Amino acid sequence: MITTTNPATGETIAEYETLDRNGIDAKLETATRAYRDWRTRDVGRRTDVLQKLSELFGRHEDELAKLATTEMGKPIKQARAEVQKCASLFAYLASDGPAMLESEWWELGDGGKAEGRWLPQGPVLAVMPWNFPYWQVVRFLGPTILAGNVGVLKHASLVQGVAAKLEELTLEADAPEGVFQNLCVSSKPIGDVIADTRIVAATLTGSEGAGRAVAEQAGRNLKKVVLELGGSDPFIVMPSADMDQAVKDAVTARIQNNGQSCICGKRTIVHADVYDDFADRFVSALKDIEPTDPMDEDCELGPLSSEGQRDTVLDQVAKAKDEGCTLLFGGEKLDRDGAWMTAGLLTDVELGSETGTDEIFGPVGQLYKAKDKDHALTIANAIPFGLGSAVWTNDDGEREFFANGIEAGMTTFNAVNGSKIEAPFGGIKNSGYGRELSHHGLHEFMNLKTLVYP
Ligand code: NDP
Repeated sequence: MITTTNPATGETIAEYETLDRNGIDAKLETATRAYRDWRTRDVGRRTDVLQKLSELFGRHEDELAKLATTEMGKPIKQARAEVQKCASLFAYLASDGPAMLESEWWELGDGGKAEGRWLPQGPVLAVMPWNFPYWQVVRFLGPTILAGNVGVLKHASLVQGVAAKLEELTLEADAPEGVFQNLCVSSKPIGDVIADTRIVAATLTGSEGAGRAVAEQAGRNLKKVVLELGGSDPFIVMPSADMDQAVKDAVTARIQNNGQSCICGKRTIVHADVYDDFADRFVSALKDIEPTDPMDEDCELGPLSSEGQRDTVLDQVAKAKDEGCTLLFGGEKLDRDGAWMTAGLLTDVELGSETGTDEIFGPVGQLYKAKDKDHALTIANAIPFGLGSAVWTNDDGEREFFANGIEAGMTTFNAVNGSKIEAPFGGIKNSGYGRELSHHGLHEFMNLKTLVYP
């Protein structure tokens, strides 16, 4: 059984019976059968499903948002925004997706022509996390439907209600049975699922450890894998920035999704010329944030997703202090039922230390002073991860310097970094490989078949 718990209260929400070996086998058989038919359906049939999914996400926005907040504690306003973003992606793929499937053509030296045609490949396994329980799955599901592939989801144990709902909505959107199925299982049988010949590829969003486990199994079985793992993103503030907006967004970046976003600014790096002013305002704004009921419309910071996750963050704060970092304020457990803690901020973090290189997946930030732009870049790149980054500057030269210099899959200027429905998303270094979204994401699990015509 998997038991889900409301992290705001510590109360049990529901229990889900996990599939045994026969249950998993039946799902994989259904996926294979569904794929044989789905791959032959025309693109219009696929985009109809995407359009209906967009409408369903819009129609059920409130219900879906409340379910996510109940299962993993994100502030309700942010849960609604997540559901809206899913609806937008489905609609975008329904309208702009078919063009991404068009063939490429080459003139051959011998007078012939070659066509590169995008064909589906089969059932793909998605292993997904709890932090954006709809969005992370939808970013896989939309392209899967459009490509003519079928999907099997192993969702995080914490969000099994969301997982079941996603399958229900896909069926309601008139996708044939088996195009998208939820596998209610722990992570234990996932190695065998990847090894199963009926699964052609896998994608995982989550921790480095889970990524390594899935990549090893996929490698052993020669299956393609896309990994979107953790990050410890830099948020760089240079003197030419709009300081009011930079402070406001630095706070948002650190506490959005209760500090549990792979691409939120976790390390705030500020140029020495504006450091004191920025630090005063940043500390005071972050300190003022009260953790409140995530169902409250004004909630800015709710509980962490589980007591286990909260304790991991508290252990990281204790470790940071042992390493000589200064905890300026907060980062403390709250004495109430559930997974509560206060926001906090660390300084004097040594580059290369455990604290300096670990991902802190909770509302505890790190603040660094940079002598100049080269020093800011050195700090930004002194981590094993390379997912996102944000730079605050109004200087064209600095923008180019950071655009080319930051080792990350994404850099956003003068705004909070976040994935965009139209643009590729993914990381480098220990943040994983491969891309999601755009035609790059769509094509990851498709066969670019070369057809040669004399
Ligand atoms: P995990 O990476 O453990 O979980 C993500 C998904 O992977 C879940 O579905 C999980 O299943 C599954 N999983 C875990 N281990 C394996 C495995 N060996 N083989 C196959 N699947 C596996 O995240 P946690 O919830 O444990 O969070 C731990 C840390 O991961 C966080 O502190 C954070 O640093 C990072 N993280 C990063 C995310 C991101 O967006 N980049 C998202 C979530 C976490 P199950 O839930 O059943 O264990």
